[in-house]
Amino acid sequence: MRRISIFGATGSVGEQTVDLIQRAGGREAFQLVALTGGQNVARLADMARELRPEIAVCADPAGLPALRERLVGTGVAVAAGPEAIAEAADRPADWVMSAIVGAAGLVPGLRALAQGATLALANKESLVTAGPLLMATAARHGARILPVDSEHSAIFQALVGEDITTVERIILTASGGALRDWPMERLAKATVKDALAHPNWAMGQRITIDSASMFNKALEVIETREFFGVLPDQIEVILHPESLIHSMVGYCDGAIMAHLGAPDMRHSIGYALNWPRREALPVARLDFAAIGSLTFRAPDPARYPALGLAREVMARRGLAGAAFNAAKDVALDWFLAGKLGFMAMAEVVAETLSVLDRDFGPENVIMSLADVLAMDQAARLRAAEIAARLGERGQR
Ligand code: NDP
Ligand code: MG
Repeated sequence: MRRISIFGATGSVGEQTVDLIQRAGGREAFQLVALTGGQNVARLADMARELRPEIAVCADPAGLPALRERLVGTGVAVAAGPEAIAEAADRPADWVMSAIVGAAGLVPGLRALAQGATLALANKESLVTAGPLLMATAARHGARILPVDSEHSAIFQALVGEDITTVERIILTASGGALRDWPMERLAKATVKDALAHPNWAMGQRITIDSASMFNKALEVIETREFFGVLPDQIEVILHPESLIHSMVGYCDGAIMAHLGAPDMRHSIGYALNWPRREALPVARLDFAAIGSLTFRAPDPARYPALGLAREVMARRGLAGAAFNAAKDVALDWFLAGKLGFMAMAEVVAETLSVLDRDFGPENVIMSLADVLAMDQAARLRAAEIAARLGERGQR
């Protein structure tokens, strides 16, 4: 039986992974190794009761007594805290879903690769913060990374049977998020509620706001560069409000391979789960006559400054991705707390990148985990100072 672990099982991607595993036969069909959650101990315990993993781990140590109590008599071991999550990733598994949100996903992903597991990677932050380290760790241990982000799964599928050196361009599609049709002058005043009203995709809170600001697309541009090894100039972003084309690959003969499907993450999660085979998936089928038309437009750089910042990060490489991700995280926290304006998030990130500029190191060196974590910390401190200043300006 295939041994499977799910990191971030209680989140949006994690729940959809569990759904597919249940539909494929649950614990009759898979041997569950580790399930992890953050704060939602009740949901983690319910999942563990059904799937009976070897161990259930919550990130929050305060949740441990409740987790233990809920799993009494099940034979499921329990643990808590970041180190316990990393140790759970050391447990031998064939397939590991990396669906923790944020920089906390990096270490468990690296540890899973180091034991040779196939890593289904939803946690794009790990490639953005430490792409060269992640890819080198996979290569060293003969482990494989399968993309789960819908765009990268689409690109991966459009590359099947092709030679990567014949790729001319990769075109990432973007919905434009909740505020794409708002007049520019209103954007500065957008609230959390406004930014959470995503037109097409149901996702976790942080990524939904990152979609509205296009920080999500910025992370994905960097993720594309790191995962597929193409040059920054080969990566394009196009607004496609219908979210039916998940991304495209353009080849040297002018041909474009596009991946289409309903906007449902179980598509790309299922592709990674069943790879290299295709299996039936419970996703809606497209009716082109009902759809009628697909539309496209160029993203406005003034509306989406995050896209320009991604270009800067790719030009600098080294630890710039770690700084970018950390600063974005802090800016998002401040926005979520109502203490920073929507457009000021990009200002916080831009200023953090420029003050830390000289510390990013050479562009092509595989960084150490310690360097990445140190940059993450340094950038968080700087970004918080900048956010405090810009947030105060916004209150006046
Ligand atoms: P959610 O916020 O819905 O879920 C995040 C998961 O991580 C939850 O299980 C949460 O636990 C857990 N978690 C949160 N903080 C920590 C921490 N510090 N340590 C360990 N675990 C933690 O996120 P999504 O599912 O939306 O996203 C997960 C990842 O997948 C992100 O990297 C995102 O960018 C990426 N992704 C998501 C897509 C989507 O459709 N949702 C699409 C493409 C990529 P709990 O809830 O119990 O607190
Ligand atoms: Mg995506």
